[in-house]
Amino acid sequence: MTLTELKMRHAHMLSRYNSGIEIGPGWIDLVDRLLKDLDALQVGIEVTQIKSKYATLSCYLAAYSDTAIEIVDRYEELSAHTCERCGKPGEIRRRGWLETLCDDCA
Ligand SMILES: [Zn+2]
Repeated sequence: MTLTELKMRHAHMLSRYNSGIEIGPGWIDLVDRLLKDLDALQVGIEVTQIKSKYATLSCYLAAYSDTAIEIVDRYEELSAHTCERCGKPGEIRRRGWLETLCDDCA
């Protein structure tokens, strides 16, 4: 799946004030699962921004419930072990900036 396909698939959840989804290709499946879980949790949930921040996934919502926070935190934790370039198991590495990468991409 491409980033454009990901955005189209979940367009109904993306706030019209959405400032975008800015992630590497390795996290597209992760974000797809995150958005499916949030969608299943609550009708009308609004995502305002998804991005890579300090090598982990940050997802911002227009409003938060405790369960939504738990889901977002779970995927943030998963992203710290998922290569942002290819999706294989990885770890956070410092390369001048922080990036979560597998052995092959590092
Ligand atoms: Zn990789």
